[in-house]
Amino acid sequence: MDSEQLREYGHRMVDFIADYYKTIETFPVLSQVQPGYLHNLLPDSAPDQPETVEQVLDDVKTKILPGITHWQSPTFYAYYPSNSSVAGFLGEMLSAGLGIVGFSWVTSPAATELEMIVLDWLAKLLNLPEQFLSKGNGGGVIQGSASEAILVVMIGAREKVLRRVGKNALGKLVVYSSDQTHSALQKACQIAGIHPENCRVLKADSSTNYALRPELLQEAVSKDIEAGLIPFFLCGNVGTTSSTAVDPLAALGNIAKRNEIWFHVDAAYAGSACICPEYRQYIDGVETADSFNMNAHKWFLTNFDCSLLWVKDQYVLTEALSTNPEFLKNKASQANLVVDYKDWQIPLGRRFRSLKLWMVLRLYGAETLKSYIRNHIKLAKDLEQLVSQDPNFEVVTPRIFSLVCFRILPVDNDEKECNDRNRNLLDAVNSSGKLFLSHTVSFVGKNRTTLRHRSATDGGEAREGDMEGYPGRSFTLAWQAV
Ligand code: PLP
Repeated sequence: MDSEQLREYGHRMVDFIADYYKTIETFPVLSQVQPGYLHNLLPDSAPDQPETVEQVLDDVKTKILPGITHWQSPTFYAYYPSNSSVAGFLGEMLSAGLGIVGFSWVTSPAATELEMIVLDWLAKLLNLPEQFLSKGNGGGVIQGSASEAILVVMIGAREKVLRRVGKNALGKLVVYSSDQTHSALQKACQIAGIHPENCRVLKADSSTNYALRPELLQEAVSKDIEAGLIPFFLCGNVGTTSSTAVDPLAALGNIAKRNEIWFHVDAAYAGSACICPEYRQYIDGVETADSFNMNAHKWFLTNFDCSLLWVKDQYVLTEALSTNPEFLKNKASQANLVVDYKDWQIPLGRRFRSLKLWMVLRLYGAETLKSYIRNHIKLAKDLEQLVSQDPNFEVVTPRIFSLVCFRILPVDNDEKECNDRNRNLLDAVNSSGKLFLSHTVSFVGKNRTTLRHRSATDGGEAREGDMEGYPGRSFTLAWQAV
């Protein structure tokens, strides 16, 4: 790395990015290009000779930016919040600058130790039970995504149960969740080798605002035990992707405990809100959980990727995931004096991601972060009120955090026509380039289409495919505060 070249180019790049943010609202928020557009604009092979930064930045302006959907735009209300920040950006920059790969403590002690400290800080802000802190058997780790977090705890839980019941019992292991759970759980089951017929996707509907009913879980578990199967993993939700539903954690956790089921709580989006005392209630019952995840890269001003996972017993992960090849052996690890995060995750290599979270916590402080969350929730409340006052629209599910799910009301009870109108509205809004909303579907006993709107850059997962085979699902628009 040539320091002077880095200084010169780095300044230019920061200027470029700062200008991008200054003008971000002038771009259509949802990219309007057609599939394959870039193939027509770029050469078929890599250049033989070096080109200049100016040439590359010119191409970024004219060829790349048109194909960007501007996730950081103030009019991006789709999917989930993905708010980056100056602090997060600086942390990313520093991490890239230091360029370390911190898989074992010895490969950069600060990387491991800062991650442990920052995860403890955040566990305290969330008021997580002490067992999740690093001073005992527990602790936190940064994964790339919630999907990885769910997968690693499932692999750990699988190993634990198979040690108890015998390695041949894999085909008998059963996983439980509500039908509102993110598809990350399904993917984890696929990778972990859970038989598809042993994934209990329990119905959650509008009668509980899409929260899982404990009686349904108990019934399913009892039936499975009677059938000789082995219940082993339950995923509870705090803030589902479609509508931010919150499962009753304590009741679910107690069932899990009684039946030796690993209880994971996925709070990928809504966990951030729980640093505010008035929203902490939504993770009440987390003390019954074995593991908990929240994405700082969603609603915590930390640039992607930064998914936080806490476990009460780190050895469940290390027993399932550790390897000890000769070329990685070192005194600190051999003496069991240190955490080696390579044994808490799927890959070996890992970035210094705690730097950006540390920057966010230090440069903003907890109080600013709380205000930021409260402001998003207030924006969402305002929109919810506006929608409720409009006789043409309805709020489909009660708003809890910064997501508003709403739809145009049907005329003459014609739900099919109503779904089409909501889809058309979504297409019209998104093709305007002015706003980007996403949608979901919800079961209410009739076909309905719902739009989702997250306040100031949140959003939710489109589940259009779910409509097939579910005559009672409605298409919902969603709005998330940004
Ligand atoms: N869980 C929930 C509740 C989510 O909303 C999402 C993403 O929207 C995920 C899991 C998956 O997140 P990731 O992209 O970090 O794997």
